[in-house]
Amino acid sequence: GRRPLVAGNWKMNGTRASIPVVEAIRDGLSPDLASGIDALICPPSTLIGSCVAATYGSSVAIGGQNLHARPSGAFTGSISAEMLADLGAKYVIVGHSERRAYHHETDDGVHAKALGARRAGLCGIICVGETIEEREQGRALDIVRAQLAIGLPKGATSADTVIAYEPVWAIGSGRTPTPKDIAEVHASLREMLDKLAGDEAGRIRILYGGSVKPGNAREILSVDNVDGALVGGASLVAEDFLGICAAY
Ligand code: 13P
Repeated sequence: GRRPLVAGNWKMNGTRASIPVVEAIRDGLSPDLASGIDALICPPSTLIGSCVAATYGSSVAIGGQNLHARPSGAFTGSISAEMLADLGAKYVIVGHSERRAYHHETDDGVHAKALGARRAGLCGIICVGETIEEREQGRALDIVRAQLAIGLPKGATSADTVIAYEPVWAIGSGRTPTPKDIAEVHASLREMLDKLAGDEAGRIRILYGGSVKPGNAREILSVDNVDGALVGGASLVAEDFLGICAAY
């Protein structure tokens, strides 16, 4: 089976005063739980170094929220996969809907960034998800399958790739799809992975993200083909993040 991944995305939240949150997550993960799941926190870039230091030797991994596709160069303000890896990051989120919406990221750009993550030895978490208009038009499956088909690099493996299904309308809204709707999308993504990634497809994890809380985690994480969660708001509070992990 696939080992579950519970990932926190802090987005643009946190200063050095937030280091105790990652310490509390580190200390709150029981050995029992840590032996069964992977836990990941993706803080803002400014905190990656100190979060890596705080979790060194623990079962909590640290990741980035974004990267530039190129390894280095004249790209003022950007951060490469190599730079994230140099800090001790193990994962990086690629193509989050907020990057797509506010920074005009395209599926081709996501593909290039996923290649950059692999080049540096990071695991890229490729995000896909439909808007509410697309869902209401009955296009959710077409949208996420196309995002995956273009975004996923050839030869993807479970070591360099995780997929995250995050319906845009469920992010930060307190609304979630029904378990049946989540199952439908994840099954469709898994079928697409089978076409795109061959033998490796069955090992690549597909996370659900969008308003995951301790109160709904058990129901969502028990859906077929849901291999973990990508958690925004609830990952900013150690006991909430740990409560979601405890659903396993
Ligand atoms: P919320 O958990 O705050 O809805 O955010 C989800 C998300 O965007 C994680 O990447």
